[in-house]
Amino acid sequence: MPDQDYGVTLGEADAAFRDEVRDFLSTALDDDVRGGRGTEALQRARRWQGRLAAAGLAAISWPVEHGGRSATPVQQLIFAAEMARARAPEPINRSAINQLGPTIIQWGTDDQRAHYLPRILSADDVWCQGFSEPDAGSDLASLRTRGVLDGEHLVIDGQKIWTSKAHYANKIYILCRTDPDAERHAGISYVLADLDTPGIEIRPIRQITGDAEFSEVFFDGARIPLTNVLGPLHHGWKVAKSTLGYERVGQSRTHRIERRLAILTGLADAPNALSDDGLADSYVADQLVRFAAKVEALRQISAQATAAGVRGISPGPEASVAKLLTSEVDQSMANFGLDLTGVTGTLERGSPSAAKKGNVAHSYLVMRAATFGAGTSEIQRNIIAEKLLGLPRDV
Ligand SMILES: Cc1cc2nc3c(=O)[nH]c(=O)nc-3n(C[C@H](O)[C@H](O)[C@H](O)COP(=O)(O)OP(=O)(O)OC[C@H]3O[C@@H](n4cnc5c(N)ncnc54)[C@H](O)[C@@H]3O)c2cc1C
Repeated sequence: MPDQDYGVTLGEADAAFRDEVRDFLSTALDDDVRGGRGTEALQRARRWQGRLAAAGLAAISWPVEHGGRSATPVQQLIFAAEMARARAPEPINRSAINQLGPTIIQWGTDDQRAHYLPRILSADDVWCQGFSEPDAGSDLASLRTRGVLDGEHLVIDGQKIWTSKAHYANKIYILCRTDPDAERHAGISYVLADLDTPGIEIRPIRQITGDAEFSEVFFDGARIPLTNVLGPLHHGWKVAKSTLGYERVGQSRTHRIERRLAILTGLADAPNALSDDGLADSYVADQLVRFAAKVEALRQISAQATAAGVRGISPGPEASVAKLLTSEVDQSMANFGLDLTGVTGTLERGSPSAAKKGNVAHSYLVMRAATFGAGTSEIQRNIIAEKLLGLPRDV
């Protein structure tokens, strides 16, 4: 039977998978895993991931032998759609599931896979990404954090910045320069480290929202075993490109924009700043339809790219299309939330008159960062222009 919700015809296995996901969500989603602020929210997100993992649903796109489901693109669409429909929260280790895990599957040794992958699924390890540095963001290959070989260890010195989740993660994956004499893309290694290693210090950075969700991370003589290098020593740039590709694809971000679309639709139904006027109503409907079409296109793009990834094909430049569109659609939806709610939408959390308990204003502020994190829109446009459209290189 065609399932109009997904716009595809479901085979028997797909229909059974959909029913399994619906059953799971109908029982597993309760107040113990939703909402909360600060530490409480983290505990709930950890609990939620535990429930997903116990049901074998934490990382459905991973191969079965590594604890996933080897899910087909259609099953990934089903999963994302059902999660969005149920307004399920994100698991605590979302980025490790989507980025680091596939990178370890692709580049890790058997020992690294056996050790790290189950701990990502169970959230026993929560990871953060230490790539960016004060003078190495868009131009990541200019990074200066050093890793000096000393027997069976690398001794790491340097500074990372904008490290999301460092304040509650217990692990970090970083890039450091291990061969300073090599050509700049060649002398870099990809290293997995415990955040409680002596010589690592974390200093949270406060953001425009008032929250502190990312940090500076300082390395001062931190000794990391060589067995923690992922992929070939000095050739971590290729490994990092896999991670960045997976990050851009961001299947779970599709899940997030689907939820945002559902929230906007709810706001549009409620009495609001624009709905007194018939013209404005048609404007609202027009905007919602446009967003819905973009969300659907993004679901398809993400599912295809994820499917290619689990077949061992690193996401290519097309991942930049997914990243660019997702972040720009996400940002315009957050802006539209303000249009819909008017003055009350601008009030922050804690204000009794704030629309959606201040979440409209909070989303608007948070979404300023969407077109920066995981590579800026300008950088994605450069990649698309050069790698997909064959235009001349940026100089
Ligand atoms: C919310 C958030 C979370 C983040 N989390 C992490 C994390 O967990 N781990 C991590 O390692 N990093 C993280 N980052 C850092 C992120 O990857 C960088 O901010 C991003 O790569 C841009 O680097 P930059 O901030 O140094 O800006 P810059 O590279 O200095 O860029 C400044 C401006 O110049 C433009 N620009 C730069 N080069 C070009 C060019 N060649 N052509 C056209 N325009 C150009 C950029 O588009 C941008 O508008 C996060 C960032 C944000 C906002």
